[in-house]
Amino acid sequence: MSIEQPLDGRVAIVTGASRGIGAATARALHRAGAAVVLAARDTDALNTLAAEIDADGGRALAVPTDVTDPAAVERLVAVAVDRFGRLDAAVNNAAGGGHPPTPLADVDVAAFDSALTVSLRGVFLAMKYEIPAMLGSGGGAIVNMSSTAGLQAVGGLAGYVSAKFGLIGLTRTAALDYADAGIRVNALAPGPIHTEQLEAAGEHARRAAAQAMPMKRIGVPDEVAAAVVWLCSDASSFVTGATLPIDGGKLAGAPPFRRPVGTAPRPDASSS
Ligand code: NAP
Repeated sequence: MSIEQPLDGRVAIVTGASRGIGAATARALHRAGAAVVLAARDTDALNTLAAEIDADGGRALAVPTDVTDPAAVERLVAVAVDRFGRLDAAVNNAAGGGHPPTPLADVDVAAFDSALTVSLRGVFLAMKYEIPAMLGSGGGAIVNMSSTAGLQAVGGLAGYVSAKFGLIGLTRTAALDYADAGIRVNALAPGPIHTEQLEAAGEHARRAAAQAMPMKRIGVPDEVAAAVVWLCSDASSFVTGATLPIDGGKLAGAPPFRRPVGTAPRPDASSS
């Protein structure tokens, strides 16, 4: 395994590769030496990214896929193996559906279902077809994209939170089912990352999000992608069933209390 290209000769699928964290992950896997199979619904975006990777001397294949459709996901894996001969890694990153922040009793049933269908069932379907292909390739590594909202609930987001908590359970189950078969399965739990949704939320919202973070900033997609590359490589060969926060310390706890500049300390009881 070369340090620069730890995934040289490997083949990876990335779902949700049309933008954001998924697109950054596909680029990072390519830079690490892997051939990448790009899945999402936006065909134009996938073709543009595949052309960019090809032009950079890589191997990429765009396979338009709706992760809610079992036949489409089965075809995605079959096309990947047909084209590149094997499957070594998969990043199940696609997420969608759901509802805007809403108190639970007011959540629309179909909107709740849609969050689970895309973001939880979609990952189940992906693993269902990826795992046999990996077994046929002698093993592999899977990374499922959860969220800090999969470890610490966010009020108003019943659908998203349920899907992302569920994804961690699904990850651990798959890890146990295949731990002795050479397939490692892990989850990442990003905190706020600067992708389209935070871009659309505007500068004020991004600054507020940053202020709430111990590091006083939000993350960027490459910081998630770097962890994906590590989890897909042999450098993490004894790691399975884990959930790794990529969150600038958000889940670690409360930051230390710091007195505002210019304020005097309160006398404590022992000095009075
Ligand atoms: P994003 O910009 O919303 O992108 C979502 C991706 O999922 C897109 O590529 C989209 O592509 C794809 N997708 C949605 N529905 C799909 C479907 N039915 N079939 C196939 N693909 C589908 O998300 P992001 O911000 O990059 O986040 C990526 C992942 O990280 C998600 O799992 C998200 O929950 C997680 N995450 C993100 C953050 C953050 O702050 N950004 C924080 C924590 C966790 P198409 O529309 O082309 O299908």
